[in-house]
Parts: sequence; structure tokens; C-alpha cells
Amino acid sequence: MEQGKYYIFTYGCQMNVHESEKLAGILEDRGYTKAGTPEEADVLVYNTCCIREGAEQRAMGNIGNAKPLKKNKPNLIVAVCGCMPQQKNVEATLKQKFPFINIFGANNVEFFGEYLDVFLKQRKYQNKILQDQDYQSNDKKIKIVRDNPYCAYVNITYGCNNFCTYCIVPYVRGRERSRPASDIFNEVKQLVEVGHYKIITLLGQNVNSYGNDLTEDKTTFPQLLEKLSKIEGDFQLRFMSSHPKDFSDELIEVIANNPKVCKAVHLPVQSGSNHVLKLMNRNYTREKYLDIIKKLKAKVKDLSISTDIIVGFVGETEEDFEDTVKLLQEVQFSNAYIFIYSKRKGTVAEKMEGHLPLEIKRNRIHKLLEIQKKYTNNHFLSLVGSTQHFVLVEEERPMHYIGKTQCGKVVKIKKNKTLCLGNFANIKITDYSGGNLYGEVE
Ligand code: SF4
Repeated sequence: MEQGKYYIFTYGCQMNVHESEKLAGILEDRGYTKAGTPEEADVLVYNTCCIREGAEQRAMGNIGNAKPLKKNKPNLIVAVCGCMPQQKNVEATLKQKFPFINIFGANNVEFFGEYLDVFLKQRKYQNKILQDQDYQSNDKKIKIVRDNPYCAYVNITYGCNNFCTYCIVPYVRGRERSRPASDIFNEVKQLVEVGHYKIITLLGQNVNSYGNDLTEDKTTFPQLLEKLSKIEGDFQLRFMSSHPKDFSDELIEVIANNPKVCKAVHLPVQSGSNHVLKLMNRNYTREKYLDIIKKLKAKVKDLSISTDIIVGFVGETEEDFEDTVKLLQEVQFSNAYIFIYSKRKGTVAEKMEGHLPLEIKRNRIHKLLEIQKKYTNNHFLSLVGSTQHFVLVEEERPMHYIGKTQCGKVVKIKKNKTLCLGNFANIKITDYSGGNLYGEVE
């Protein structure tokens, strides 16, 4: 029986996008259907993220917008989930600002259905801030409503053990838990058997340390990739996020030699300075990072490498910053996501001495972005004349098809009878102009 409609706001990374697919599954299991707009909804869910200030502020603004909706529809259920509610003292602040919130917490989505059921019966505020023991990883029981018909996310780990000093994740998502390899295998196999999922992205805060906590059926991340690639079918495996400290030679071999593993690697470096990497508690040096890149470049044909960089971290000197500039120039990433460091409450870095003025951070990010722009452009130009394998054809437009390369670059593909939506194609890149790649079937 239809209960009404739901609308989910999602903030943050792919992990949260996938959590929202599970929240949608929980709601649909209870008879709710997807609303086109928040105004149509009977349940509004805010799946928040507190990793970056911007995402948190956007969520705050949007929760505020629920006030007039609730006024027009007093039975509207407002739920705030995700990692924001897990932060200390946030509940009191949010409840004071937004007293209309009905369900608060349920960071681990498995709890959301329970809270919703109790709220529907009692119409009483439900809240739960999770403790370590509340974190589970039994999501195999949850229905998942996947948004993208061709690309599916699969969790392989939850939480994180790394405690980078700028990051709130280990405090709000718990310690690292790996899903049993057999559960992951079954989920991926089912997805491949459906037939239309061509790209399976394995998700974790640090996929490279997958399996460290497993006591039975011990499997490392490279072994997991090898196992999954034995599943019969036309699909590609991708993964995120990687941590340089756990990026092994074994993994480089698998990326190089296994045709089902994508040849695009996203490897966050965060800083090119050993001094800053230490302050960040990243547990690798610039030398170790550059060594991984050297090996990847030597072994993996047609590789594209992207990264994340935090600029203006606490205590970052001009010399440290120049080390990051030099690293950027040395690696020449195909893409870099560069962010200004922002203080996150509850982290070690928040209390460190030596926070930099915004102006310095702005100048530094501006310089890095300018440098990276050149390399990103060079990367696009270097693709002209190449044949890109496993380009996923995602959309048909009047004049051309839209496809995506293994590293996520959009290509406008000349129409051709052999092209088929949702299939892979080998595409020869013929031009790069006006910020667009153009190609045709090889
Ligand atoms: S590896 Fe570091 S940055 Fe990534 S989630 Fe864990 S603590 Fe945060």
C-alpha cells in the first residue's frame, strides 16, 4: 500500500550517495515512492556529510527550508541522517534551530527503518547517536534502489582506522570493518547477472586496507579484485578511496594485468611536504608516494592518475607549499581536486598551533589551480589520436552519443549504428576543443 512520497537530499562523497540508495530502499520497502520535488514529499531525508564545511553548511541551509513545508503539511516527517548528527553537541544545536526534526541520527542506515517504524507508530522524536558497538555491516539485508542503470556502488569496508588529523570520519563512522569477501562476491555477481550494470565501483574510506580485520576467509584487496574479476560478464571494476600507505606492489600488478580492473587510479596525496604529511598523520612520505607513481606509470599502459590536495594545512610553510607545487609538476596528474584546509570540530588539527590566514590559503590554492589547469589540459590533448577502451555509452543526443572514458572524461561520440546505450565501445579520440573531447568508433 502506498504510504506517500519521499525525497532524499544527499551531501558528500560516493559513500553517501550509496547510503542514500539504501535509505531509498528502506523507504520503498515500507510503501513510499520517490517524489520529484521536496514539496511533494511526505518524508524528507537529509543524508548529511560533515567532512567539509561547505557540505555541512549546504545541509543546514536546506534543513531550514523544510520549515515552511512542515507548516503546510504538519505530518511531514523530517529525518536528519549521515555523519553530521554523530558529531558532539550537534544534536542540541540542530534541535534548537530546527525543532521540527522528527528522526535524528541513524548514521548506520540499518537503523533508519527501525526509527521510522517507531516514529510512525508513536509520532515521537527518535534519536540515536551511535556508539562503536552499534556499527554493523549487514547491509546485504537492505534493499538498494540504484539510481544509475549502468554503474553500481558496492561497499567493501565501512569506517576508518587512519585518524588523519584533519579528518572527522573515524569519529563519526567508527573503526574499519571489512565485509566478508563472499558477501561482496555474491553482490557483484548478482549485479553483473542483471546485465545492465557495467561499472562496479568498490567503496571504502581506504579500500587498500580491505581485509586487515577479517578473521575468517582472509582476503587482501588485490586478492578481492582478482576474485571478483573471475565473475563472467562484460563489466569493469573500479574502486575508491585509496590510501598511499596501503597501496601495495601486488595491487599495482593487478591493475596492470587484469583487464577487468580500470586503468584510472585516484590516489590522494594531500601534500607534497614530508613535514605536512607528518602533521596530517598520513603515514607515508613524498618519496614513498612518488615511488608508487613511478611503478604505476612503468607498469600500467594508458594510465590516468588523479589526486586530492589540501592546501594551507596548519603549520604549512612557504617551503612546504613549494614541495607540493614541485610534486604536482613532477607527477602531472590528469586531474587534481584541490581544497583549502578548513577546521573541523573534534579533530586533532583543530587544536594545533599555526592555523594560516585565509588570504595565504587563497593565494596558494589559486597558484596550485593555475598549475593543475595546464596539466589537465595537457592530459586532454594527449588523448587526441589515442583509442580509449571501455568507453561507456551513456546517453543519446540528437547529434551524437555521450560516453565516459575509464577515467570519467566525457566524450561526444559520432553517431554510428554499432553504438548501443549502456555498452562499452572502443573510441578513437579525434579532437579536443572548447573543453570537449570528440571521438568515433574505432
Ligand atoms: S584515510 Fe584519513 S582522510 Fe580518509 S577517511 Fe580515514 S581518516 Fe579520513
